[in-house]
Amino acid sequence: MFSINDSIFVTENSNGAANSGVIVTDKGVILVDSTFFPSKARRIEEFVSSITSKPLLYVINTHYHLDHTLGNCAIEAPVVGSAATKDFLEKFDLESFKKTLEPLIQKELKDAKLIPPSVVFKNKISFDMGNKKVEVVKMGGHTPDSSLVYVWPDGVCFCGDLVFSGYHAEIEEDSNLNRWILNLKKIKEKNPKWIVPGHGKVGGMREIDEMILYLEKFRSLSKLLKLKGTEEIVDKFGEDPVFANRGFALLFEESLVNYLKGRRKNGKNARSHKA
Ligand SMILES: [Zn+2]
Repeated sequence: MFSINDSIFVTENSNGAANSGVIVTDKGVILVDSTFFPSKARRIEEFVSSITSKPLLYVINTHYHLDHTLGNCAIEAPVVGSAATKDFLEKFDLESFKKTLEPLIQKELKDAKLIPPSVVFKNKISFDMGNKKVEVVKMGGHTPDSSLVYVWPDGVCFCGDLVFSGYHAEIEEDSNLNRWILNLKKIKEKNPKWIVPGHGKVGGMREIDEMILYLEKFRSLSKLLKLKGTEEIVDKFGEDPVFANRGFALLFEESLVNYLKGRRKNGKNARSHKA
């Protein structure tokens, strides 16, 4: 566990798996994201009971992706999330998805269930926790439901997958690059001291700046996709310093493929979502 201060902790995963946050307040404890494995979520709960006797009040989901939400089923607290996150999780066919996984992981996830948020908000919700204020804001970008969790006065922003630090960004068919970049600029305006990425090490404003640069470059490369194949782009630009120093190298091409699919599917929408 990485500690930001004596009341906010992050499970920084050295293998690039999704981060989880622990916020200890006067009124109780709030978790941010529950990881992919229920067993891991249980370990986070154990960590919480090892540092405080305060009750675990909520787990907030930053977006619907399973590496941030599947552990919900192991946590004994209501899930907080946007109506869009709830909708995605309710529609997701977990049992079919499990069949696509390696046998060992299938076994580990045998009893895992999707628990959609029960404390639901449309765009924003805040929790007055006595000594801290916890704000959850739906922003969109990485996915339509991507949300941020601000903790004040500590000045911490849990960015979910709007920020990847040290790893390639996961760009999906439903990602919206223009909105994503715009929202990173909005985080800068709020000027939080600490940036907690969805994947990778905790940092500060530098992580936001690097992410903006990454996405702007990705966006300009994706314009070449009409002329060149994804492989050709990876060969040519994979060594660019903006991309070369990030882990999960395979995600670069996968993201280009997803971007292309997304553009074919929602070309019109993507263009009208510029604002
Ligand atoms: Zn994600």
